[in-house]
Amino acid sequence: MTQSDATVIATYSRRMRLRLADGHEVDARIKGKRLKPVCGDRVMAEVIDNETDWLISSIAPRRNELTRPDRRGRTEVLAANIDCLVAVAAAEPKPDWYIIDRYLCAAELMGIVGVVVYNKIDLETSPITADEELANYERIGHAVARCSASDGTGIAEIGTLIGNRCTIIVGQSGVGKSSIINRLSSGAQQRVATISDKSGEGRHTTVNSVMIPLPQGGYVIDSPGVRDYAPALESARNAAGGFREIVAAAQRCRFANCQHLREPGCAIKSGVEDGSITARRYESYKRIVNLTEQLSEGRY
Ligand code: GDP
Ligand code: ZN
Repeated sequence: MTQSDATVIATYSRRMRLRLADGHEVDARIKGKRLKPVCGDRVMAEVIDNETDWLISSIAPRRNELTRPDRRGRTEVLAANIDCLVAVAAAEPKPDWYIIDRYLCAAELMGIVGVVVYNKIDLETSPITADEELANYERIGHAVARCSASDGTGIAEIGTLIGNRCTIIVGQSGVGKSSIINRLSSGAQQRVATISDKSGEGRHTTVNSVMIPLPQGGYVIDSPGVRDYAPALESARNAAGGFREIVAAAQRCRFANCQHLREPGCAIKSGVEDGSITARRYESYKRIVNLTEQLSEGRY
């Protein structure tokens, strides 16, 4: 039996496109109903006699998962084995920095690189209105890039920042995510957007989710689920771990288990008072704690 390690590079409900260890791409089906591979998964696949389809027989343990609750309240996995999250804001629609903070918090808690990209700088004159906010993200340790997907300014810098990682690009609708992906990939996604319909069902198979190769190596995962992704934390207690400046200052709090809300001797609250932590980021932290508590009590 011929078998190979492979990576799932596109999913179309129960059909998948794989890149085999030798670089070839093949279509595949899934063995059994319990296996649920997603984009980014490393799998074991085997040849099916007399067919061009391969069969996915197992999924390797995942380094991480991007998840969200589905409509029935269960957790749906959108993608796996991600290395980098790019949170996009833009000159328009008006940036909602709280949303950017939620994405960065989720990235930090997943242990992946969180990058902030500010798009549509062609609509602004220098200094741009978001400079203060962007400088603060840089100060606390997140890489920041300014770009225009319209004229291409800054796109090469984003390519360098994300390098050969497996990246997801998130942000409010209309900020320019698709335009940025197009620029980064030089239109490569058109090549993977079709899967041959050898199942004989004659239906048009629509793509759910796809990993788009980048010229410098690496991939961007594009999927409707990732585009609408709203991260949820498992517990409000975790939220502080998603804020770099809070993590850095928390060792100076009087109580080791300080939640940085109402406790005396809290280094985060004094940091907000002396300006070393911005009141806006602290506000995002408190909103995420509240939101997570409401979600966990089923009040949302
Ligand atoms: P998405 O919803 O985040 O994927 O955003 P799109 O890529 O679909 O872009 C939304 C709109 O913004 C489209 O009309 C784009 O042409 C426009 N757009 C994207 N990038 C830029 C940019 O850098 N400058 C300007 N002026 N418009 C842009
Ligand atoms: Zn504290």
